[in-house]
Amino acid sequence: MPKSSLDRLTIETLRGVGPQLAIKLQKIGLYKIQDLLFHLPLRYIDRTQITPIGAVQPQTEVVIEGEVRACDTVFGRRRSLVCRIQDQSGTTTLRFFHFNRAQQDRLQPGVLVRCFGEARRGKSGIEFYHPEYQHLDQTKANKLEDTLTPIYPATEGITQSRIRDLCAQALTLLDQQPIVELLPSKLNSDLSRQLSYSLLDALRLLHNPPPGTALHLLAAGEHPAQQRLAAEELIAHNLSLLRLRQKIQRQQAPSLLEDHKTKTLFLKQLGFQLTTAQQRVSAEISTDISSSVPMLRLVQGDVGSGKTVVAALAALQAIANGKQAALMAPTEILAEQHRVNFEQWLQPLGIRIAWLTGKIKGKARDVQLAAIADGTAQMVIGTHALFQESVSFKDLGLSIIDEQHRFGVHQRLALRSKGFSEDPSANIDGSAPHQLIMTATPIPRTLAMSAYADLDCSVIDELPPGRTPVDTLVLSNLRRPDVIERVRASCINGRQAYWVCTLIEESDVLEAQAAEVTASELKLLLPELSIGLIHGRLKPREKLTLMEDFKAGKINLLVATTVIEVGVDVPNASLMIIENSERLGLSQLHQLRGRVGRGSQASHCVLLYSPPLSGNGSARLKIMRETTDGFKISEKDLELRGPGEVLGTRQTGDMRLHIADLQRDAHMLPQIKSIAEQMLINHPKSVDPLIRRWLGHNQQYAQA
Ligand code: ADP
Ligand code: MG
Repeated sequence: MPKSSLDRLTIETLRGVGPQLAIKLQKIGLYKIQDLLFHLPLRYIDRTQITPIGAVQPQTEVVIEGEVRACDTVFGRRRSLVCRIQDQSGTTTLRFFHFNRAQQDRLQPGVLVRCFGEARRGKSGIEFYHPEYQHLDQTKANKLEDTLTPIYPATEGITQSRIRDLCAQALTLLDQQPIVELLPSKLNSDLSRQLSYSLLDALRLLHNPPPGTALHLLAAGEHPAQQRLAAEELIAHNLSLLRLRQKIQRQQAPSLLEDHKTKTLFLKQLGFQLTTAQQRVSAEISTDISSSVPMLRLVQGDVGSGKTVVAALAALQAIANGKQAALMAPTEILAEQHRVNFEQWLQPLGIRIAWLTGKIKGKARDVQLAAIADGTAQMVIGTHALFQESVSFKDLGLSIIDEQHRFGVHQRLALRSKGFSEDPSANIDGSAPHQLIMTATPIPRTLAMSAYADLDCSVIDELPPGRTPVDTLVLSNLRRPDVIERVRASCINGRQAYWVCTLIEESDVLEAQAAEVTASELKLLLPELSIGLIHGRLKPREKLTLMEDFKAGKINLLVATTVIEVGVDVPNASLMIIENSERLGLSQLHQLRGRVGRGSQASHCVLLYSPPLSGNGSARLKIMRETTDGFKISEKDLELRGPGEVLGTRQTGDMRLHIADLQRDAHMLPQIKSIAEQMLINHPKSVDPLIRRWLGHNQQYAQA
């Protein structure tokens, strides 16, 4: 075996691995010997000790030993071989549906057998179906396994024993050249239990847990050896984000000083007073962007907390300093709405606005692109079309991304790179833009620490005055006629309503169909109302017209798919019906419900479900009924659906964790953050190797 580090040596250097096996191994992400070391068992079975038959618990996997007392073929619905075995503590039944004569002959009374299998409650008490078994030879010692037996993630054509053998070989190599310990030995941290294991010991234990290792801890992922690896992985993730932040903040950003005159003008024509929270967050942003270190700030604010105006103030500060500002929204409707707001707020101040979405093509597009490129457009609003390569800014000072949970970190980086100095079309002075990210999905603090380690956080924790919290009802579909009556009454009284059709499949077509069916039905039942239908399959123009008509009160009831989920703002709409609400995640329900309760009149949200409701479904809807606080809802969502749902793209797309689990390991996150920060300062040399070890396949992090 040549001396080369384990992260370079390919698996093919191991005994018994030819090109064909290597291909199969690659399918499950195993290329290098180091990959094998980190290929940890899914679970373990304990074949190290014999359980007395009398002590066997149902639903456990155990080894038992006993003497065959009887063995008979039983003819029932299916022919089976039933074998009673006994030890000093009790008797139990083994049941085989597939068996042959020779097998039966050898299981004669008096014979000693050892079995391994899962105990279940059966007709005659505890039974084992098709256990593995072996005959015991009384003349020699029948050795038990001396470590717990690992069960590895595998794939077709690779047996457990094959993977076990390969992992064993990899572990042997570890004796000759130990894997490099990258976590500093002296860390100022409370994670002493987690960090009590060296990486080497943790890996050894997890591949070959000695007898007596607490299986329940392993099963829960809470064994210190597992926690050791999880901690290291989380530290690596955290570091990758901090590196990103460092790289960006090494660049120069334009120093955008506050311009009191324009700000005062802006606030005067606004028509309302900023809330204390808006003022505070706005001041934080203002301070950030007046510095020449690029701002990286996340603004969290519940739906309706008034993030847009905070964004506008930031944009204004950039523009007042002669720079461009860009605002990107995740959907066409939202982008349009921002455009309307910004036109209303900024045009009176003489600011020119450009507008770019994927649907703007040809000549119209060229006009917008030219205005963006030559700086005529001071404020640029659009969808992810702003990311495209053909878009170049003259002098981008601030980029704002709304509803961040819809975008991944890479899209964010792409917009940022529009202002990068490496880009020949970037800002003349080679500066990087400041960056502001806004999300209406409140993220529990510990989670935010980890998923957004590269960002500073501000929270708008106050709603504008005069809002009455939405009153939420949970009703079975059987009450649909009543609900329709309620819509009628409400609309006749001058209110407006949404009727949201949802499907679990992510299919625009199906969702649109469902909405069409509902809309026709409602039109029949509510002939006196003007009913609009909006869904993702409509042309952008049609969608916008519909939203305008709704906003202008020309439509009483808007039947919609989840296209209205984020950001849409029609204050007079005060009733929302959500169909199939039991199938949606809490965050999504919260977003949807946030479309009402924006005016001063009392608003209602009816969550319809089709009975029967599952326990989890009923728990979720109960939370929706009980609170309108986005932070509370996201904490619950985290509990019920896990971090993927709460973090959206960012988690599922970008933060693929192998061993750590943001929910299970949440308690470590504050210390992880502090360890990562210490390492960056005191052990900078270990940082990149650590990131490579854990995020090797996800190199963008390290390079971005
Ligand atoms: P979100 O934070 O969900 O993006 P918006 O920025 O869309 O919220 O604001 C929701 C509504 O509240 C808008 O109609 C906006 O004009 C209004 N608004 C924002 N701030 C205030 C305030 N301080 N006082 C009154 N109304 C406000
Ligand atoms: Mg918004």
